[in-house]
Parts: sequence; structure tokens; C-alpha cells
Amino acid sequence: MLEFRQVAKAYATPQGPLEVLAGVDLALSAGEGLALMGESGSGKSTLLHLAAGLDLPDRGEVRLAGQAISTLSEPARARLRRESLGLVFQQFHLVPSLSVIDNLRLQARLAGCERADSTAELVERLGLTGLERRYPEQLSGGQQQRLAIGRALAPRPALLLADEPTGNLDEATAGEVLDLLMTLVRDTGCSLLMVTHSPRVAAPLARCLKLSRGGLAPHHPSERDA
Ligand code: ADP
Ligand code: MG
Repeated sequence: MLEFRQVAKAYATPQGPLEVLAGVDLALSAGEGLALMGESGSGKSTLLHLAAGLDLPDRGEVRLAGQAISTLSEPARARLRRESLGLVFQQFHLVPSLSVIDNLRLQARLAGCERADSTAELVERLGLTGLERRYPEQLSGGQQQRLAIGRALAPRPALLLADEPTGNLDEATAGEVLDLLMTLVRDTGCSLLMVTHSPRVAAPLARCLKLSRGGLAPHHPSERDA
């Protein structure tokens, strides 16, 4: 589903190049769940950006759904992203000018798979019934993130990339949102790559890796990570 082969990435900074990823290998198979941990600044978001084809590696190869991302044109990468990927971020990134229902419909339509009945059913599963006509700013943080998760999963992507999806929520809300995310991921059958600082968030996932000094290593989440 997702494969990194010796992926390296550096950023240009005024102090010279900052090497963030130094030869990362990663393989995520269909339906697999993986937690990605690591200190702030270790390169977790960079890794997710590369996985989504939002940025390209300096060296090595990223393969998504069997395709080498670097070999695709930008429009082809965008299409692959729309058809194969769901993205959820710490900031909810909803479309502020669209209502709840239109945020959901937009994503499904972009991916070319709108079905009105499934949108209504999704609203109910997200716990947003009665809020269909509201705009994102009229929702609580937890409601906004539930909407963002529903939007990401509405097109039934093969892979969900989540970057600290509960990082902006209080603990109780974070728990509810995580339960919803895990339930929908299970029902969709998609693979999940989730960045988190929380051992409790990482625990239900089959595998956990930690990013440090540019490389990935197996990791057992514990309270010391929090
Ligand atoms: P994490 O998500 O693990 O906190 P990031 O991937 O966001 O880490 O960032 C890794 C490192 O790269 C950090 O030191 C960050 O400051 C730096 N960085 C991230 N994006 C850029 C950029 N566009 N230009 C320069 N440096 C960047
Ligand atoms: Mg980050």
C-alpha cells in the first residue's frame, strides 16, 4: 500500500541543509495500522507529506498503491491522492464557507464517488445529525475533527494518513474522536498511518515505529512518550 525505500529529505535553511530523513525504509500493507512516534521536530510530518506526495524526496523512492510517486506528473499525483488517500491533520482544514453536509459532499465528489444516501448515513455515524447546515466555525473542536475524519474517509480511500489528529482536543474529546476514527477505519478496511505523541492513541495499532535522527525503529509505546 505504502512503501519507502531509502528515503532522504533535507530542508534548505539559512544555516545550511537540515537533514530530516536519512534513508528511511517503511512498508505498510493493505489494512495495516501503524503508529508513528518521535520527538517534536524529528520529521514525522515531513514523512507524512512525502507519503501523500505533497512533497518529493531528495533521494530514494516513495510508492503509493503500487506507483512510484516521483515518476508521476503533479496532476497524476493529485489524482492518486484524491482516489487513494484520506488526510487528517491536527488543524481540521475544513472548508469554512461550506456547511457540514457540503464539506462531506465536496470530498466525495472530488474523488468521483458521491452517493447521497451514503452521505446522510455518514452524518449519522459521525454523530453530526441535526448539524448538517452548520458551518465549521459553528462546531466544537471535537465535532470539527469528526467531520474532517468523515470527509477523509467518505471516498473510501485505501490509506488514511493522520497527523496528530487528536492533538488539538481535550482528553475526553480526544478519546471519543479516536474511537470514531478507529471504528471508521476498521469498517472502511483502509490502512492507517497515524502520527501521535500519546501511548494510548498508539496502543490499539498493530505496529509502532519511532522516528529519531532521521531513521525509523520499532518502538513500544509507554507513558514516557506522553
Ligand atoms: P515533526 O512533525 O516530527 O515535529 P517536522 O517534519 O514538522 O517534524 O519537521 C522536522 C524538522 O524540519 C524540524 O526541525 C522543522 O523545523 C524542519 N522543517 C519542517 N518543514 C520545513 C521547511 N519547509 N523548511 C525548513 N525546515 C523545515
Ligand atoms: Mg508534526
